[in-house]
Amino acid sequence: MSEVAAAPTPTIGFIGLGRMGSPMARLLAEGGHRVLGYDLSPEALAQLAGAGGTAVRSAGEAAAADVVVLMLPDSTVVTAVLRDDAVVSALTPGRIVIDMSSSEPVRTRQLAAELAQRGVHLVDAPVSGGVRGAQTGKLTIMVGGDTEIVDRVEPVLKLLGRPVRAGDVGAGHAVKALNNLMSATHLWVTSEAMVAGQRFGLDPEVMLSVFNGSSGRSGSTDNKWPNFILPGSYDSGFGLRLMLKDMKIATALARAVGVEPVLGDEAVELWSHAADDLAATADHTEVARWIASTALPPSDANTARTEGETA
Ligand code: NAD
Repeated sequence: MSEVAAAPTPTIGFIGLGRMGSPMARLLAEGGHRVLGYDLSPEALAQLAGAGGTAVRSAGEAAAADVVVLMLPDSTVVTAVLRDDAVVSALTPGRIVIDMSSSEPVRTRQLAAELAQRGVHLVDAPVSGGVRGAQTGKLTIMVGGDTEIVDRVEPVLKLLGRPVRAGDVGAGHAVKALNNLMSATHLWVTSEAMVAGQRFGLDPEVMLSVFNGSSGRSGSTDNKWPNFILPGSYDSGFGLRLMLKDMKIATALARAVGVEPVLGDEAVELWSHAADDLAATADHTEVARWIASTALPPSDANTARTEGETA
């Protein structure tokens, strides 16, 4: 009786070992893959080496793996990495690149066409679920790409969370950006409601309990406010500027297909004001504190209300 040899476990090159990439690379190593990780930060490389991966000295070395995962800030960085000479040489025909960053869908399609000319496949697989989801392998993964190629990388993605097939290449990045535009808009209006309710004398815990059992419920009421804003830690691990980047991707996408993103544009403007005031490293949940800080002091608010009544 002949035995069929099991397919060898693919080696994985992982480029971008930040707040998300670092725990994701660890899970892939724990899942039995040889992980060749690269990041500009020496601390991130040391962390990978301590978590079962192999730190390499260049993106080109990481790109020599069977499957190359990118978890980088944005499309500009993704493009620069994929056009790096050493990466281009390492990506021989048949290789698969998975861009798990939250990138721009139109640029993703352009990159996919560029890679396809050299026989290299691109899958987009951005994620939702935050740093906690990355640490626990419970990310929602929005996957775009050719069905047969996605089939081949699905076992890798399943080590990180729940893959949902969104469509052709670029579809994952599109749905991710649209999700974050909704999420950011929810967080803004939830924060306005929470600040106003507390000013009126309502207990914030009671408000959240009511919202979470009512139609005002969202990820902002059941996760962000109770876990990162009310305790005052503001440490969700998702940067404010990364959120703003995603919102702009979504509004540009809407406009490109003829939809005027009226509320989306307003949300981008509001978040941009907060980004101008807050530190470059600010967590996105800090918008709640910023909104509270821009409210009138209670005495001025009373005066304004009285003037409004007499006008
Ligand atoms: P991060 O800033 O913590 O990590 C990005 C990493 O990329 C850094 O370690 C940086 O040194 C590295 N890097 C930058 N340029 C590089 C280059 N040329 N070569 C190699 N490494 C390079 O960001 P993050 O929070 O991990 O987010 C990564 C992506 O995931 C972003 O697109 C973000 O929008 C998305 N995302 C983040 C979260 C979150 O909760 N943090 C959730 C979902 C999606």
